[in-house]
Amino acid sequence: MILFKTAETLQKELEKLRSKNLKIGFVPTMGALHAGHLSLIDECKKHCDVVICSIFVNPTQFNDKNDFEKYPVTIQNDIYLLETNKTDILFWPSINEVYKDGIEDLQHFDLGYLETILEGKYRPGHFQGVCNVMYRLLNIVQPDYLFLGRKDYQQYLVLKKMMQQYFSNINITAVDIKREENGLAMSSRNMRLSEEAKNKAASIYQSLQLIKQNISEENFDILKVKASQTLLQNGFDKIDYVEICDAETLLSVNKLNGKKPIALIAAFIEGVRLIDNILLTKIHLL
Ligand code: AMP
Repeated sequence: MILFKTAETLQKELEKLRSKNLKIGFVPTMGALHAGHLSLIDECKKHCDVVICSIFVNPTQFNDKNDFEKYPVTIQNDIYLLETNKTDILFWPSINEVYKDGIEDLQHFDLGYLETILEGKYRPGHFQGVCNVMYRLLNIVQPDYLFLGRKDYQQYLVLKKMMQQYFSNINITAVDIKREENGLAMSSRNMRLSEEAKNKAASIYQSLQLIKQNISEENFDILKVKASQTLLQNGFDKIDYVEICDAETLLSVNKLNGKKPIALIAAFIEGVRLIDNILLTKIHLL
C-alpha cells in the first residue's frame, strides 16, 4: 500500500493509473477502522482495479465539538488492517490539506428537506459538513466508483443528491450493514462503550427487528413506542428518534401502502450516540 498525505502527490499517482485505463474505486472513512469498513474495501476490490481508502476525521461535520475531540484515532492499527486487506492506496491528509482556505467559509449545498429531518434535525449543519468534505475528496480522487455504507443511510441519500449535481459520472454503491454477532452495527463509536454497554446496545437491533417483524399487523405509532420502550428498558439513556420512513424519500410513513419502508433509530448509551436502520421489505432497494 502507498500512503499519500498530499493531494498533489496522490493526483500524480492517479494520473499514471488512469493512463493505464484502470478502474479506480474510493472508500472514504474517518478511520478507527473495523470489519464494516473492510467490507466496503472488499466490495470495492470486486468492482475496481485500484482501491483507494481515505482516513480523515472531518471537523466540519461535527456539530458537537466534544464528539469531534473524542473521536477515536487508531492510525497504526488502521494502516495494518488496510495493508492486510490489500488496499492499494491510503490518502491520509491533514485538515489544512483538505480545507486549504480554512473551515469557516464553507460552500453551501442545496439538500432540501433532507438536511432538516432525522440526523439533520438533531445534528444541524452535519450534512453541509459531510458534503463539503466529500466534494473536496471527490475532486481530489475523481474515482470511477464510490463505496458507502448503508449504516449511514441518510448520508448515503444526501451524497447521492449532491453527486447527481456535481459528480454524475461517479457510480455509487451502497454496502450492507456489518454487525457484531449480537446484532450491534459495527461503528467506530462502539470503541467508546464499556463491554456491558456493548451488550446492551444490541437492543437497538432488537428494536429494529421488532418493527420489522410486526410491520404488517401493527399500527406504526404503537410499533415506534414499543421499539422506544425496548431501548429504554435495555440501558439507552436518551432517544433522538425512532422512525419509519419511505426508503427513497425518508419521509415518515404510517402505513405500508406499496411503499418501501425503512426503520431508523438514533439513541444514546453511556453518552455515546449510536445510529442504525433496517429495511422493512425484502426488496433490494436503490
Ligand atoms: P465512517 O468512518 O464512520 O465515516 O464510515 C465510513 C464509511 O463506512 C461510511 O460509508 C459508513 O456508512 C461505512 N460504515 C461504517 N460502519 C459500517 C458498518 N457497520 N457496515 C457497513 N458500512 C459501514
